[in-house]
Amino acid sequence: MLRCSFILVSLIVLLNGCNYFYQKPAVTTVYIQPFFPFSRERALQVAYEVGNFYKCKVVVLPERKIYSEARSASGRYSAHILLGLLAKDLKDRNGKILALTSYDIFCKKNRVNEWGVFGLGECPGRSCVVSDFRLKWFPDKTREFTINVVLHELGHTFGLPHCSYNITCLMNDAKGGIKELYREKRMLCSHCRDKIGLKI
Ligand SMILES: [Zn+2]
Ligand SMILES: [Zn+2]
Repeated sequence: MLRCSFILVSLIVLLNGCNYFYQKPAVTTVYIQPFFPFSRERALQVAYEVGNFYKCKVVVLPERKIYSEARSASGRYSAHILLGLLAKDLKDRNGKILALTSYDIFCKKNRVNEWGVFGLGECPGRSCVVSDFRLKWFPDKTREFTINVVLHELGHTFGLPHCSYNITCLMNDAKGGIKELYREKRMLCSHCRDKIGLKI
C-alpha cells in the first residue's frame, strides 16, 4: 500500500498465505539511524516522541552518510534499497530500525519507477524509513508531520495494516493527499491499539 508524492508509501504487505502477526511495541527497542544532514538533535526529538507514543525503548545511533548504492541517476534514493542495506548493516541490533533522511526517497509504483514518498515501512517487519524532503514544503507543519509519518511507518513494522475504522487514526491510509496528513490526529484508534497491546 502506498502513500506517495503526496502519497505516503507505507506498507509492504507480505501476505504470503496471510501469515500476519502483530508485535507489542512495549517489548521492542527502536533504533533510529539518522542519515546526515538529518541532525542528531532532530533525531532525539523524534526518539522522545516515539518512546512517549509506543512506550518502547528508543536508541539514537550516530549519524551516518546515506548509502550511495541507493541513489538513482536522478539523485533520489530508493526506499526499498535503503531498507535492505539498513537491515544488513544493523543485523546485530535486536529491534526495529527507523531511518531518518532529508533526501528525497522513492518507491516503484505501477509504471512509475520513481514515485516520491514520505516513508516506507515493512509490515510486519523490521525496518522503515522516513524522509522530510516533501514535508518541508509545509514549513509550519514539517516537524509535526514528520513525527506522525514516523509513528505510522513504525506502526506498520509492528504489524498494523492501514486502518479503515477511523479516518483520524494514524494508520489511516493517506491515499496520496497532504490533506490526509492534516486530518490525522496523533493517536491510534482502539482497534489498532488493541492489535498491538497498546494501552491509552
Ligand atoms: Zn501506510
Ligand atoms: Zn486505527
